[in-house]
Amino acid sequence: MFYEKIKLTKREFLINSGKLLALSSFPLSTRLALGNQHWDVIVIGGGTAGLPAAIFAAQRGLKVLIIEKAPIIGGTLFLSTGQIAGAGTIFQQRKGIKDSPDQHYDDIMRINHNTSDPALTRILVDHAGTTINWLERNGYSIFNHHPVKKIAHDPFKVARYQQGPMGGISILNVLRPMVEQETKKGNITILLETSAIDLMQSSNGDVNGVVVENKEGKTMEYKGRKIILASGGCASNPQLYEELHNVPLYCQIAYPQSQGMGLLLGQSVGGYLRGGEKYSPLYGMILADEKYPSPMFAIVKNSIERLPWEILVNSEGNRFVQEDHESIDHMEHVIKEQPGHRHWAILDQNMLGQMPQLIYNWPNERIVNESEKQKMFKKHDSIRELAIKSGLHPLNLESTIREYNDNLNDNNSDTFGRQHRPLPIKQPPFYSIRMQGWSLVSFAGLGINENFEVIKPGGEPIKNLYAIGEVIGFGATSGNSYVNGMGVTPAITYGKLLGESIKPF
Ligand SMILES: Cc1cc2nc3c(=O)[nH]c(=O)nc-3n(C[C@H](O)[C@H](O)[C@H](O)COP(=O)(O)OP(=O)(O)OC[C@H]3O[C@@H](n4cnc5c(N)ncnc54)[C@H](O)[C@@H]3O)c2cc1C
Repeated sequence: MFYEKIKLTKREFLINSGKLLALSSFPLSTRLALGNQHWDVIVIGGGTAGLPAAIFAAQRGLKVLIIEKAPIIGGTLFLSTGQIAGAGTIFQQRKGIKDSPDQHYDDIMRINHNTSDPALTRILVDHAGTTINWLERNGYSIFNHHPVKKIAHDPFKVARYQQGPMGGISILNVLRPMVEQETKKGNITILLETSAIDLMQSSNGDVNGVVVENKEGKTMEYKGRKIILASGGCASNPQLYEELHNVPLYCQIAYPQSQGMGLLLGQSVGGYLRGGEKYSPLYGMILADEKYPSPMFAIVKNSIERLPWEILVNSEGNRFVQEDHESIDHMEHVIKEQPGHRHWAILDQNMLGQMPQLIYNWPNERIVNESEKQKMFKKHDSIRELAIKSGLHPLNLESTIREYNDNLNDNNSDTFGRQHRPLPIKQPPFYSIRMQGWSLVSFAGLGINENFEVIKPGGEPIKNLYAIGEVIGFGATSGNSYVNGMGVTPAITYGKLLGESIKPF
C-alpha cells in the first residue's frame, strides 16, 4: 500500500494545476450560469473514485459537474503508492499467470477473515481485472517484475498485485487526459477550490443538488439528477477520526483534504456510518514527534519485507509476538492489543552491522546517528539504562533479553515459536527504536448497497445519492485488514461501474 517513497515534483504539480485551473477558473457570471443548469451527474471529489465515475458518465454524453475542494484534481492518487490488484489482467496473461475472480475473492476473504462486505467484494473481484485492462489500454504500465503476490501485506496465492513506476500518479496520468478530453467536449465541467458543504433535497427527501462554497467563501447551489459522494475518507481529520474509530489519528499522512465531509453529508440526509470497529493498525511507523497526529519520520520494514533480526517489545518491556510470524496481519492485530499500539525494536551492535536494511530508504548506519538526536531512537551500553531512556520497564526488558538469549544459546525453542534467530542480543551498544501502530485510511464510512446507493440504516436507498471510494470506508472493501490493493482498486472499479451505469434521460 505504501512505503518506497514517491514524490510529486513541484513541476508535475504546476503542470497539473496550470492545465486544470485554466479549465475551471470561471468568472462569477459563468458560475451563476452553471448554477442554472441541471446537471446529469454531480461528482463531489475529483480523486481516485470520482474521476473514473465522471469519465464514464461523460463518455456516454452525460453532463457532469466535478466539485473539487483542492486546486487540482487527483486526490489521494498524489500520495498513494497506487498498488492495485485484479484477476485476469493483460499483465498476468503476458507472464502466463492463471487467475480467476473466484481465486481473488477467496484470497481477500482469507486474508481479512471474511470481514469485508461480501457483496461489494464480489463486485470488485468480478470487475477489477477489466478495470486494470482498461487502464492498460489507455497507457498504464507497471514495473517489469510485477504482478507480484505481495508488497508489505499478507501475500495472495496468485501474483495479481501491481504498481506503476510513479505509484498513484501512474494511474492519474491515465485518467487526467480523459478528463481533459471530456472537458474540452463540454461534457465535464470542473470547479476547483470549491467545497461541497451541503446536500439539497426535494420535499420527499430525494437528493437533488449540492450547496458549495468557493475559496472566497461564496456559496452556490447546483442542481443535479445524480449526486456522487467521492470525497474520500477522514484520515486527515483527527477529531472525526477518533470519534469514528475510537483510536487517535497517530500519523498525519493522508491527503490533507480527507476531512470526512462526504461522510457527514451522507449522514445529514439519512445515511449511516459503519465500520470504525474494523480499525487495524499498521506495523512500524517511526513518528517525527510524540504529539498526535505526528508527521512520519521513517518506516521499519515488516516481516513480509525482511526476516527480523531484532526482537519486539511493548512498553512493559515484554515480548508479545513471534517476530517472524508469516502473517503481518496477525502481528498487526496483536499490536492493536498493546498499550497505545506502541512497539519497540531492540537490537545490538552486531545485528546492526550484519542485518539487511531495517528502515525503508535508510542505510542501517543511519540508526546510529539518529540515536544521538531523534527522540524515537535510543542507544546505551547497558540494557537497563536503555530501557530507562526508552520508557520501558527496565527489569522486564533485562529478563526478556536474558530469556531470548538463553533459549538461543541452549538451542531451546523460542518462547513465541520464532524460527529466525540469527544472533543473540549481547554486543553493546544496544539500541531501541520506538514504533507506532498507525493507519492512513478511514475504516469507517457510509453504508451503501450493491448499486453504490447510499442507504438508510434499514437498507432503503436515499434516492439519487451514491457513494464510492474511501467515503464508504476502507473496512467495507478491505475488512479489518490491509488487503493488497483494496483501497485504490475498489475506488477506480466502483467509479467506472457507477459512471457506466447512470442512464441518460
Ligand atoms: C500514502 C497513502 C498510500 C496509499 N497506498 C495505497 C495503495 O498502494 N493501494 C491501495 O489500494 N490503497 C492505498 N491507499 C488508500 C487509497 O489510496 C485511498 O483509499 C483512495 O485513493 C481513496 O480514493 P477516494 O477517491 O475515496 O479519495 P481521494 O482520491 O482522496 O479523492 C477525494 C477527492 O475529494 C476532494 N474533496 C474532499 N472533500 C471535498 C468537499 N467537501 N468538496 C469537494 N471536494 C472534496 C479531495 O480534495 C479529493 O480530491 C493509500 C493511502 C495513502 C494515504
